[in-house]
Amino acid sequence: MTRLDEIRAMEAELLLPTYERNPILFVRGEGVYLTDEQGEKYLDLLSGIGVNALGYAHPAIEEAIARQSRALIHTSNLYFHEGQAELARRLTIRTGLARAFFANTGTEAWEGALKLARAHAGLLRSEGKSIGTKFLALEHSFHGRTYGSVSTTHKAKYREPFAPVVPGVEFVRFNDVADLRSKFSNEVCAILVESIQGEGGIRPLSQEFFAEARALADSTGALLIVDEIQAGLGRTGTWCAFQHYGILPDITTLAKPLAGGIPLGAILCTEEVARAIHPGMHGTTFGGGPLACAVAIAVVDTIEKDNLLRNAAEVGEYFLAQLSSLATRHEAITEVRGKGLMVAAELDSPDLAKLTVAEMLKRRILINCTSDTVLRFLPPLILKREHVDTAIAALDEILTEHAAAFAGTQTAPKAGGHNNG
Ligand SMILES: *Cc1c(COP(=O)(O)O)cnc(C)c1O
Repeated sequence: MTRLDEIRAMEAELLLPTYERNPILFVRGEGVYLTDEQGEKYLDLLSGIGVNALGYAHPAIEEAIARQSRALIHTSNLYFHEGQAELARRLTIRTGLARAFFANTGTEAWEGALKLARAHAGLLRSEGKSIGTKFLALEHSFHGRTYGSVSTTHKAKYREPFAPVVPGVEFVRFNDVADLRSKFSNEVCAILVESIQGEGGIRPLSQEFFAEARALADSTGALLIVDEIQAGLGRTGTWCAFQHYGILPDITTLAKPLAGGIPLGAILCTEEVARAIHPGMHGTTFGGGPLACAVAIAVVDTIEKDNLLRNAAEVGEYFLAQLSSLATRHEAITEVRGKGLMVAAELDSPDLAKLTVAEMLKRRILINCTSDTVLRFLPPLILKREHVDTAIAALDEILTEHAAAFAGTQTAPKAGGHNNG
């Protein structure tokens, strides 16, 4: 029995069966590579689902953890420490928002953002405005696993087993401006979007839809809340993906890469929204602790110092171009989408997508499949062109060998055209 077999057997007996893990036991990582217990190296194009933006064993992260863990790991939010305001300053400057609240995870940040929206609507009502408590969320959205988050997440599988979920949520068809207009009223306290849907299949909002959401919210005092947990912090080549649209939300949420793998989430909002919060209304024991903040400061400063926004934009553009060129040679690729290092290739068959992920794993390249047919790439922001070439060559080989067997099993018509936006 290998160590992996032992661990698998123990987990099968002892853990809630929430995950279908790939049968690999990783023991360390360096740069864009992970190493398993046999000493095999894997090219990681998923970076722990968009978390390890600086790759593995980055000296800036190691140094920040070592230094801060020797000094102070936790104090609670009953006292001051050196990190929160320093981190808040870095994030507000880069996003254009005014104030921060730190939570531990993405879903917690999102949960807090929803609470903030309801509290803000309450404040407006107390000032005589007519505004309700309803949320408009989008089809194919993903916002996390706690109650508010699953309530605003579209996929029924994540919501329905846990019913009744939080009431007052209506879903709008993705990028359907007419549907958004027809469902918006002064009953709505916030419109909820991801600039680029992540779990939903790397789907960018259209400029028109995003602008209409901003305008409708402005017309009543409702909030536009943008979830940047996956797309934010440099992944798309800007600090936040909403910056590509020139639209400023009232609230945004960050998490995944924020503290380089140490859990940390953030809510950022305007001064107007912050009026709704008073001491004691919201809080957390762990959120924004000294260790997580020190590491996040190191992450933000390293992204800046090492020009990783530019790297994400440039290598991402190359990645998308290479995928588009692959799509011209393989009918099975129906569309290529993304921005920066948040990219996807949609295939015409869920079985082929599954097989492709497995075949990539055999070639020691990590990617995943989201939304059934979408191959998703969320590599570390330190990725280089040579890594893209490795991945493209492997995909070419796999599709050449296997795509024919799946032709005709296709579930979606060829979308036509490759979106390089
Ligand atoms: C991952 C993700 C979340 C949830 O974050 P967790 O840290 O897993 O709770 C929320 N929104 C988006 C867009 C995400 O990608």
